[in-house]
Amino acid sequence: MRAEIIAVGSELLLGQITNTNAKFISAELADIGVDVHYQTVVGDNPARLEEAIRIAEERADLIIFSGGLGPTKDDLTKETIARHIGVELESNNQALLSIQAYFKRTGRHMTENNKKQALVLEGSTVLENRFGMAPGMAISANERTYLLLPGPPHELEPMFRDEGIPYLQRLSGIQEIIVSTVVKFFGIGEAELEYKVQGLLASQTNPTIAPLASKDAVTLRVTAKARTAEDARQLIEPVLCELHNQVGEFIYGTDDDTLSSKAASLLTGAGLTISAAESLTAGLFTSLLAEEPGISASLKGGMTVYDIEAKTKQLGVDSQLLETYGTVSAECAEALAEKIRDRFQTDIGIGLTGVAGPDTHDGQPAGTIWIGLSYKKKTESYKLRLSGARNTNRLRAANFALYYLIR
Ligand code: ATP
Ligand code: MG
Repeated sequence: MRAEIIAVGSELLLGQITNTNAKFISAELADIGVDVHYQTVVGDNPARLEEAIRIAEERADLIIFSGGLGPTKDDLTKETIARHIGVELESNNQALLSIQAYFKRTGRHMTENNKKQALVLEGSTVLENRFGMAPGMAISANERTYLLLPGPPHELEPMFRDEGIPYLQRLSGIQEIIVSTVVKFFGIGEAELEYKVQGLLASQTNPTIAPLASKDAVTLRVTAKARTAEDARQLIEPVLCELHNQVGEFIYGTDDDTLSSKAASLLTGAGLTISAAESLTAGLFTSLLAEEPGISASLKGGMTVYDIEAKTKQLGVDSQLLETYGTVSAECAEALAEKIRDRFQTDIGIGLTGVAGPDTHDGQPAGTIWIGLSYKKKTESYKLRLSGARNTNRLRAANFALYYLIR
């Protein structure tokens, strides 16, 4: 099956929104082995939409539309398709009832044009919209399949995943299901990771292993096809073990895990308390931890100790030590960790100091960072040499502190 996605919406062409629907649909189709050959974007204009449909029909058997199913004047997708393939629009009882129920529930007044949303293509399979009013539709005509989905991603995504994909699987006789696990890495670059596991990457067919582009994490997606979810998981399991064997020190979690969620569950699970003295990160570390519900059992507090006086007079770091070693040093990071731990009476103390950039400081280049970690009778420190812009370095430093905590 060759697929084409047509995203309808002038705001896409004006650059006001990003076409995340096409990205989502493409990724879901890839999972069931349907090839997307083209993605098209067209404005809210019936003549140009019809032209896009004609072109798509030349080169695809499956055409998926996103957007333009709403009640307003510029929403013309189903009207244009109805005219193009020569079917009428008819009112769908189920859709009308759920629209009426929606208005009753929200206490809003239903206008005449809302009834337009209950109109569906005659003879189509109606896809329920659990998070909005416009139903989706699937219809076959001229040896092609047309799938119509609403524009808002929070409506489109569950509809496509829960009803669109099973519909396409029934249509094409695909009986396998897809299960995937995303493995998350920290402290290693994408290229280095791929190099280290190249043997594994090359040898796998089911499951497949592929890097998943992500803004703030290095990840590998392990995807298996099988008759049942349980069978798929059994295929994935040995690959996860092998990844742990080869690059386990860089793995911090899977799927929805984040560094802060892992650190928080580790701290609260072990009943450990923590505090932090932060110089260059100025509270970012504690702020990341505070994103996690339930962290108040472990996170006692912290101090932003930005300049030397804050470090010495407020927190009590020995000024002689700073004169001797400078603030960008293992000694300073360790002293911050120990002093904050004493002051807040916590099990763990974290100290963050360094040069965010862009300028050098104390003769140290931008991106030189020291992280101190004080726990039980031991205080350790770690040096980073980051190469990002100022605020990237600050955030990475805070994330590295979380990483050292869970390692
Ligand atoms: P509605 O009933 O909300 O009008 P609709 O099916 O008519 O839904 P549109 O009017 O085309 O959809 O788009 C509604 C909103 O959905 C847009 O303002 C935009 O926020 C979002 N949206 C539309 N198309 C896309 C897309 N391709 N990618 C991401 N978001 C989109
Ligand atoms: Mg609309």
